[in-house]
Amino acid sequence: MVQETIFSKIIRKEIPADIVYQDELVTAFRDISPQAKTHILIIPNKLIPTVNDVQPEDEAMLGRIFSVAAKIAAQEGIAEDGYRLIMNCNKHGGQEVFHIHMHLLGGEPLGKMLDK
Ligand code: 5GP
Repeated sequence: MVQETIFSKIIRKEIPADIVYQDELVTAFRDISPQAKTHILIIPNKLIPTVNDVQPEDEAMLGRIFSVAAKIAAQEGIAEDGYRLIMNCNKHGGQEVFHIHMHLLGGEPLGKMLDK
């Protein structure tokens, strides 16, 4: 059975979060423990636990995640300098919340390599 996470409650506004964007497919909010000056999570409104669970019918939503990332980067004023988009999957990817999410990180130089 697919288990809801805290992100479902954020989508439904049952718990507080700094939501910067929401539409019928995705929600974006500031990470509670930012790893960069700008750290925003973009998530599907539909619960998909990991990237391994993505289905062909999810492709429109995945495209939306990217277009919303670009829109938010522009809103945040970090588009031109650049930013990093990350989706972690399962244990080796370091995934902690099992509701897929794109990390949008920026606002400062992030270095060349990801942490291992
Ligand atoms: P993961 O490690 O699964 O890729 O990333 C999960 C992210 O969710 C982490 O960066 C963590 O700080 C963030 N996070 C976890 N719980 C909450 C919460 O309740 N509110 C917000 N805004 N972010 C959260």
